[in-house]
Amino acid sequence: MYNPKSLKAEEFINHEEILETLAYAEQNKDNLPLIDSIIEKARLCKGLSHREASVLLACEDQEKLEEIFQLAGELKKRFYGNRIVMFAPLYLSNYCINGCTYCPYHMKNKHIARKKLTQEEVAAEVIALQDMGHKRLAIEAGEDPVNNPIEYILECIQTIYSIKHRNGAIRRVNVNIAATTVENYRKLKEAGIGTYILFQETYHKESYEKLHPTGPKHDYAYHTEAMDRAMEGGIDDVGLGVLFGLELYKYEFAGLLMHAEHLEAVHGVGPHTISVPRIKHADDIDPSAFDNSISDEIFAKLCALIRLAVPYTGMIISTRESKEVREKVIRLGVSQISGASRTSVGGYQEEERPTDTEQFDVSDQRTLDEVVRWLMEMGYIPSFCTACYREGRTGDRFMSLCKSGQIQNCCHPNALMTLKEYLMDYASEETKAIGEALIQAELQNIPKENVRTVCKEHLAKIEQGIRDFRF
Ligand code: SAM
Repeated sequence: MYNPKSLKAEEFINHEEILETLAYAEQNKDNLPLIDSIIEKARLCKGLSHREASVLLACEDQEKLEEIFQLAGELKKRFYGNRIVMFAPLYLSNYCINGCTYCPYHMKNKHIARKKLTQEEVAAEVIALQDMGHKRLAIEAGEDPVNNPIEYILECIQTIYSIKHRNGAIRRVNVNIAATTVENYRKLKEAGIGTYILFQETYHKESYEKLHPTGPKHDYAYHTEAMDRAMEGGIDDVGLGVLFGLELYKYEFAGLLMHAEHLEAVHGVGPHTISVPRIKHADDIDPSAFDNSISDEIFAKLCALIRLAVPYTGMIISTRESKEVREKVIRLGVSQISGASRTSVGGYQEEERPTDTEQFDVSDQRTLDEVVRWLMEMGYIPSFCTACYREGRTGDRFMSLCKSGQIQNCCHPNALMTLKEYLMDYASEETKAIGEALIQAELQNIPKENVRTVCKEHLAKIEQGIRDFRF
């Protein structure tokens, strides 16, 4: 039975409820008065239920679609301004005992090179990332209790935070590792992680079990209930995601929103982020073997509707997507993007992009400087800010700040100051010139005069090389 407050996966992601939702959406996809009322509700920033959002997803009316896209852009601006948070993934190990059929790290793949970074190699990767200008990482690892136990992950986190190269520092480590125990989540929390990210891959239990035929990840309930354990372990910020292409997107969309509703109902706070990866070609993985791939148009519609349904949740897009697709969805609500990513273990130390341990092909292969410049040329502020979790702005505290619009008074100045740091330390001359002009123009958009003054003072200090404050 469907029960968003239940802690049982099959009750909060209830198959029958999803089927009924899809049937309801199909019946109402031409019901314009209902569609208008749902759009109006979204306009009031009240978010949408999985049923309401599914009706909009089913609607094919071109005019309504335009309206949805427009509104997604407006909500994005209202809550996230023109800031785009930057991060990079760091692959620690591709040892894995799971059998995920879409991932080249699956256990049966005998020809992919297996690699696990030593602490010296972690340090070298971090230095390479710091030298690009990155401040925020998402660490990635396969599931292998012998090769990648939690102690290894914790040691890597410690190493990452300890490296201070030139003006560089990694100030926030998000973690994307397999579902684990409450005890291990508690250890991750104590290690000072930012967001715990775990993609559901698919919410469809039967497909999930087929796509994960072997290994611990086969257990649908254990995987689906991971975020509840993470929150029980004290982690406030969790990141959801679906790997689009595995199952029917309408099913996944309803499941994803039900998961968000469940977290809100049980823990009083929804997901901090939602990621929207699509299957990519990889070593022995052919994406055409999965028949649920979605077009760029549907992808954009999904991003826009996530923005309407959960207006306060960050949305992440990786370099799986091309520059063109990223450009489109950034306008519709994406708030975080990766730049200059290498999806291989040890990839950042190499001159050329190594492919022998790569998890998937990267579409956007630009340097961080190019990505930063491109964002600024479109009028966005690339933000390297990581202050929230250090300042205790996590979970519901972050959400209430976001809901009240107060975020403009802290995220906006912090974004400008961290961009200034980036420009001073790492940017090319061309990027620097564009950035300096943007910062000057953006200073005017800080609503409170006293905050603007403090921001100006900090900017001047950065200019003099004084960094006695942390963003
Ligand atoms: N091993 C961890 C787990 O089981 O959740 C997480 C890390 S895995 C390195 C990160 C994500 O990459 C997976 O959750 C999956 O969604 C995604 N991924 C795997 N194979 C992919 C492919 N061929 N194309 C795009 N994304 C893929």
